[in-house]
Amino acid sequence: MEPGSGRGAGFFSRRFAPDWSGRFRGVASSRCPKLSALISLYPAGYLAGLPIRSARGGDGGLSALGNWNLGHAPPVRSLCAGEPERELERATRALGASREQLEERVEERTAELGAANDAFMAEIVEHKQTAEALRDSHTRFQAIFENSMDAIGVSKSGVHVLVNAAYLKMFGCSRAEEVVGRSVLEFISPNQRELIRERIQLRPMGTDVPAHYETRGLRPDGSELDLEVAVSAYKLKGELHTLVILRDITERKRADEQIRKLNAELETRVTERTSQLEAINKELESFTYSVSHDLRAPLRAMQGLAAALLEDYQEKLDAAGRDYAGRIVTAAARMETLIQDLLAYSRLSRLDLELRPVDLNTILADVRTQLGVDLPDRNGTVVIEGPIPPMVGHRATLLQVMSNLVSNGLKFVSPGVTPRVRIHGEDRGPVVRLWVEDNGIGIAPEYYERIFRIFERLHGVETYPGTGIGLAIVQKGVERLGGRVGLESAEGLGSRFWVELRKANV
Ligand code: ADP
Repeated sequence: MEPGSGRGAGFFSRRFAPDWSGRFRGVASSRCPKLSALISLYPAGYLAGLPIRSARGGDGGLSALGNWNLGHAPPVRSLCAGEPERELERATRALGASREQLEERVEERTAELGAANDAFMAEIVEHKQTAEALRDSHTRFQAIFENSMDAIGVSKSGVHVLVNAAYLKMFGCSRAEEVVGRSVLEFISPNQRELIRERIQLRPMGTDVPAHYETRGLRPDGSELDLEVAVSAYKLKGELHTLVILRDITERKRADEQIRKLNAELETRVTERTSQLEAINKELESFTYSVSHDLRAPLRAMQGLAAALLEDYQEKLDAAGRDYAGRIVTAAARMETLIQDLLAYSRLSRLDLELRPVDLNTILADVRTQLGVDLPDRNGTVVIEGPIPPMVGHRATLLQVMSNLVSNGLKFVSPGVTPRVRIHGEDRGPVVRLWVEDNGIGIAPEYYERIFRIFERLHGVETYPGTGIGLAIVQKGVERLGGRVGLESAEGLGSRFWVELRKANV
């Protein structure tokens, strides 16, 4: 019988029929619908090439389909052997369910694999980015390290492992090998070595060692340099590394030392000069005092005799004689004031002042009384705005100081102007500032300092009488009281003199 024309050929389609070699040619369908459904469960072409016996239900053919591991798939033998239809149906259903299950699992597994694949891809991207960032960071570090103006070195257990170009240059070396592999201590001045050695030993123990300090370095050629050092430590593969940044401060140190020396010299010179000046001042003051004192007797004689001439020889003198005698009296009177002022000034320098809390309100009342004689003539006013907080001072000295300031305020006014002086105190924390303000002619700022010097006057005696010693007395007096004096003024706008003294503890 020709293969494919017998029982087998009726059961399978023509294409499915076995060929001459006794094996199936292909698997597409069967005339039997159940078998056709079953066949469709197998992968296309799976049955092709299987021995014909398998289609006829021969035992040899079972293993081929059974090996495919279909779980519940029915043995082919039972199908091909023409088992009852029911069994075939059951088998088909079981196979269908099995196929669905399998497909679900395949889908699940595919999804799982897809997700795992995505995660893996993301991880790869991340790794790539990290690697790139690391490369960038390394490049940056390298650039900083190599181009740094400061010397940077890395050491491990006190031995150089890495140094930059600035480090080599600082120590006069041209190749890294001259430094790398050599002890850090070789590059430290002998008198600093013990200290640095101790720090190198203490750092790994976690002991606190200074992170910034100055030391002295030693070059291989024996020369030394001053160094400013910044140290930090880090671990690399579990090993402690020390990073140092060095700055050559030799020049700065030298300049500092020079400045310090110059300052010391200057101080000595200033002290010497001050004591010289003090001695000269003392001499001058005692000279002024004695001269002024000694001048008074002949001056009195001149003054008295000129007055006597005017009084007793008035008739015998002609007009010119009387004029001369009159001028002698005026000049002598002026000289008397000058001597008085000079004496007051030199007395101020010589006196031992005992400083204590003083009440300015009563001192100012005295000033008004002292100057009161002049007030009706001048038609001026002195207003004291109080109360003024108590200050540390010396009553007589303050009386003189305030009296001079107030009388100047009343004196230096433009013709026709009624002088008005206002005094008030200002609490400035540890000090009290006393203000003496007037409506006078004012002072241009360029004269602020000059007017406090002895004999310095901005006007002739004809315009405003005076000796030019008043403000010098003010300054000296305030100085002796441990205070300060100053003014605010502008030409034509009045003046505001101030005196600042320590506030008394109340
Ligand atoms: P004196 O009053 O005897 O001239 P001072 O030493 O007291 O001398 O003052 C020095 C100069 O400062 C005065 O000649 C005057 O030119 C100027 N001066 C002082 N006080 C005032 C004032 N309140 N207003 C304008 N000028 C003043």
